[in-house]
Amino acid sequence: MAGSRRTVPFREIIPGLRHLGRAFWPQIRQQRAMIGLSLLVLLFSIAVRVLEPWPLKLMFDWIIMPQAPTAGSDTTTALEAPGFLAGPGVLLGSMVVALIILTVLRAVSEYYSRVGMAVAATRIVTDVRARLFRHLQQLSLRYHHQAKSGDLVTRFTYDVERLRDTAVTALLPLAANLITMTTMIGIMLWFDWQLALIPVAVLPLFYLTSARTSRAVQQVVREQRRRDGALAAATAEVIGAIKYVQALSLGSLQEKVFARQNRKSLKHGAKAQRLAAGLETKVDIILVVAKGLVLWRGVYLVVTGAITPGTLILFITYLQFMFRPMRQVVKYLTRIARATASGERILEVLDTPLDIRDRPGAVEAGPIKGRIRFDHVCFSYGQRQPVLSDIEFAIEPGQRVALVGASGAGKSTLLALMLRLYDTDSGRILLDGRDIRDYRVDSLRRQFSIVLQDSVLFAVSIGDNIAYGDLEANSAAVERAARLANAHDFIMQLPDGYNTVIGERGATLSGGQLQRIAIARAVIRNAPVMLLDEPTRGLDNINRAEVVRALQRCSAGKTAVLVTHDLLASRGFDRILVIRDRHIEASGSHEELMRHNGFYRKSYLEQYDEQTEQAGAYPALQRLASR
Ligand code: ADP
Repeated sequence: MAGSRRTVPFREIIPGLRHLGRAFWPQIRQQRAMIGLSLLVLLFSIAVRVLEPWPLKLMFDWIIMPQAPTAGSDTTTALEAPGFLAGPGVLLGSMVVALIILTVLRAVSEYYSRVGMAVAATRIVTDVRARLFRHLQQLSLRYHHQAKSGDLVTRFTYDVERLRDTAVTALLPLAANLITMTTMIGIMLWFDWQLALIPVAVLPLFYLTSARTSRAVQQVVREQRRRDGALAAATAEVIGAIKYVQALSLGSLQEKVFARQNRKSLKHGAKAQRLAAGLETKVDIILVVAKGLVLWRGVYLVVTGAITPGTLILFITYLQFMFRPMRQVVKYLTRIARATASGERILEVLDTPLDIRDRPGAVEAGPIKGRIRFDHVCFSYGQRQPVLSDIEFAIEPGQRVALVGASGAGKSTLLALMLRLYDTDSGRILLDGRDIRDYRVDSLRRQFSIVLQDSVLFAVSIGDNIAYGDLEANSAAVERAARLANAHDFIMQLPDGYNTVIGERGATLSGGQLQRIAIARAVIRNAPVMLLDEPTRGLDNINRAEVVRALQRCSAGKTAVLVTHDLLASRGFDRILVIRDRHIEASGSHEELMRHNGFYRKSYLEQYDEQTEQAGAYPALQRLASR
């Protein structure tokens, strides 16, 4: 950009605002009637403000010093209202009434323009927030894995709020002040252009003084926003992992990290304030000199009869009004810079392309039969070496397949690929013979019900948690699913039964109970394919047996893919795939694998020995193991 080395305060703000305006245009457009109306009222309030000092001027010229000379360039001659029209008492009275009416009109119209803008701004940011939320939900796991949740939350709350706030407390007054200033300068030039040149000369001086500071403030503000985001992210991380922080006595270490971040944030906050205050002082000096010059020259003009005392009063009042916002311009610019920084942070999220999206012409996945095929699938997370390479297998409708293999072999990744949480690097995944990318993402995911290792329950009642599997389910269906998932009995023992609200992170239920609720959720969904990711991990034997039983029952007649370490759980499945070194190493029934696959046999025997020892105490598991 030409002249980019010059320090221009608005240089970054204006394009920043323009960018924001363009990005949020659809939301702004919807409020155009409200914004237009508020701007009209604002213009009216500006007109009244410009008129406000006039009664005072006229009082001076007509009542206090009616004999004052009116020669020269002073145009008040035209407005001369001699005493013969009305007595001085009536004149004074009407001036006072005019002053009161003007002030009230200004105050009321300012109030309405402000309220109107605030309403429009609130509606806009509500829409922006909804848009942000929608986008965030659609962003792939690739994005969410590297994003910090605390930072994202501050973008939702603080940054969005800041945008709204700034529109009303900085943009609107700044625009109003600029228009008022221009009008007042125009009137002053009309009265006495020489005298008006003094405040006009202040403008470039003011501009030069504030340029550098404004730029510095913007940089500080942007840095501060980044730091605040980092601080929120760090705090969210600690709160999210508070159990470990306390158990590992990491409290004091975390406190130090927090204190350091907090101090940095504070330092930047203070720096912005210092810069703004410093500039205010400089501007004050410029303004007082200008005012002095106007007085010096103005009094001279009054004495020589070039202007009336009322005109000088008008000048001084206008100057007073013009200079106040000039002192505060840094405050406004800081606020706007903060808002543009906040806006950028929101746009950063909104501009992140959705990498998993519907292809043009994608079709609705109707009720499918459930045939799954991996066709030479390769996949890696980022630039790291591939997690899966050349994966090739097929699952027939109604077949129940277990994926086993060492931890980190890529089993869960396979499930994520089926759900299109990630797209393959190469190769295809076919569902009922069709590439899953040809289905609409939503409809594709509706074909699956899932039970994950750490089932997440939301902070709503257990009944609602189950119904999340199928938002149209009624309470009878919820209970049926819970019975099938072997969860009905323990739910009925809870204080409010199905209405019991589970504490955050499911703290009030055991792992096995949580899993059975998750299974009920999967059951109620009644999707053709069930994906089960380590559903028995971390459970004791009794719970494990309960969960396995529930899973066996619920997956009957469906295509099911179970990812597990637990070779006892996988044993009852129709087919077992062994994943090792990024490939499918073997495939077959338990018996076949025991005969032909050394890795499987060794793993099974290791687990089975352990389990048989313990299983003596748990007949349920024993029965299962020998199925
Ligand atoms: P498994 O389910 O067999 O234990 P995963 O599919 O979870 O294995 O992981 C396979 C490999 O991919 C591991 O090396 C793991 O570290 C890596 N991995 C898993 N998730 C991510 C992710 N979100 N980002 C980067 N690497 C990942």
